[in-house]
Amino acid sequence: MNIPVQNCSSCAACANVCARSAISMQLDAEGFYRPVIDAERCVQCGACERACPWNNPVENPNAADVSPKTVAAYAKDESVRLQSSSGGIFTVLAEHVLDDGGVVVGVAQTAPTRFGHIVVDNKTDLAELRGSKYVQADVGLVYREVCNLLKVGRKVLFSGTPCQVAGLYAVLGNAASADLFTVDIVCHGTPSVKVFEKYVREMEKTDDSALDSINFRDKSEGWSGYALLHRFRSGKSVSVHHGRSKYMRLFLSRICQNVSCDDCHYRKLPRIADITLGDYWGISKYHPEMNDNKGTSVVLLNTEHGKALFEAVADKVVQCDSKVENAIAGNPCIVRSSKPHPKRAEFFANLDKYTLDQLIKKYCPFPSPLKRAYTRVRGMLGRIKRKVVG
Ligand SMILES: Cc1cc2nc3c(=O)[nH]c(=O)nc-3n(C[C@H](O)[C@H](O)[C@H](O)COP(=O)(O)OP(=O)(O)OC[C@H]3O[C@@H](n4cnc5c(N)ncnc54)[C@H](O)[C@@H]3O)c2cc1C
Repeated sequence: MNIPVQNCSSCAACANVCARSAISMQLDAEGFYRPVIDAERCVQCGACERACPWNNPVENPNAADVSPKTVAAYAKDESVRLQSSSGGIFTVLAEHVLDDGGVVVGVAQTAPTRFGHIVVDNKTDLAELRGSKYVQADVGLVYREVCNLLKVGRKVLFSGTPCQVAGLYAVLGNAASADLFTVDIVCHGTPSVKVFEKYVREMEKTDDSALDSINFRDKSEGWSGYALLHRFRSGKSVSVHHGRSKYMRLFLSRICQNVSCDDCHYRKLPRIADITLGDYWGISKYHPEMNDNKGTSVVLLNTEHGKALFEAVADKVVQCDSKVENAIAGNPCIVRSSKPHPKRAEFFANLDKYTLDQLIKKYCPFPSPLKRAYTRVRGMLGRIKRKVVG
């Protein structure tokens, strides 16, 4: 297989499509899943290269719309909403598919520092998929499982990043299925497993206990003031506001994401999935009545198939019509990749040499107290102006 690393989104379509199971996804030196070929099994049939959605772009077989119906929405069930990263719409859709006898595929924590796709068929296990995990997920051979479930007539809701949804369609051969619903998230980029593991190791040293679980979007202080909540085996919990979190500093500065995220082929309209979910950042500007700081989702209904699913859960959500331009204004990742971090290569070259504190200081320092105060005042003035004008 001849696919340069900068074009590998780690979607694992190649591993799933290989009839001889000659490809496994393994972590590379930077901590991203890459195809590794067992030369003894490989017969050079070329199926892996043909399936690669970077080599051969795929489209949503249900004909996605370039100007999707856009809504701001959140789950009526407040506990679901508070446990979810945004407005809890993923859970509402997933529960509907489960009630209909289907299964849901999404990302769960599979080990203290690892995340991957799993299939769930009941509401108790659905809790494992809830919430954003800001680390690259191991897709494994889950597309094969989806193909097998569709073959036996099960309904499937598949969720993941846009490149993972593209990977699934590539493996399915772009065939439309009335039983398959796809949901992609608005994706900022997927961070390295190695960076996350280093972060956890350093924290475990300070806190003298092994990490048990992490909630990347704890809403105890509200949706906009979310924190990372770390639970240790000792029983201790540590909560760090996202603005002061070392890990979020690295993630949001784009220095530790997969190199292919710098030029993502699937951050565009039309979107690849039937439904796209994200945070409706900027909600107060466009729909202040929808913001109580408990989380509001932007929902893009990209296909008729997606619209039908969302209509089926209408009684479970609070919603209002919105405009895709407004959603993009607060969330440019819907349509484009952000600029690559200029020091990304140097950061990874030095990853084993320095602590995260040292790396942050060197490559993506936290803003000074003066800059933070300026940003806060500017935000406050914006809110006052909107109240006066509105
Ligand atoms: C790496 C990453 C980057 C993101 N970047 C943005 C962004 O820039 N802007 C924005 O608006 N939203 C972003 N999101 C999405 C956002 O955080 C919420 O997940 C989304 O709005 C759905 O929220 P919810 O409340 O409906 O459901 P939730 O229950 O909060 O989300 C669950 C969904 O997220 C999926 N998921 C969780 N972790 C992963 C993962 N590691 N890889 C693939 N899928 C995963 C699950 O499969 C499930 O579909 C990102 C999410 C991830 C994982």
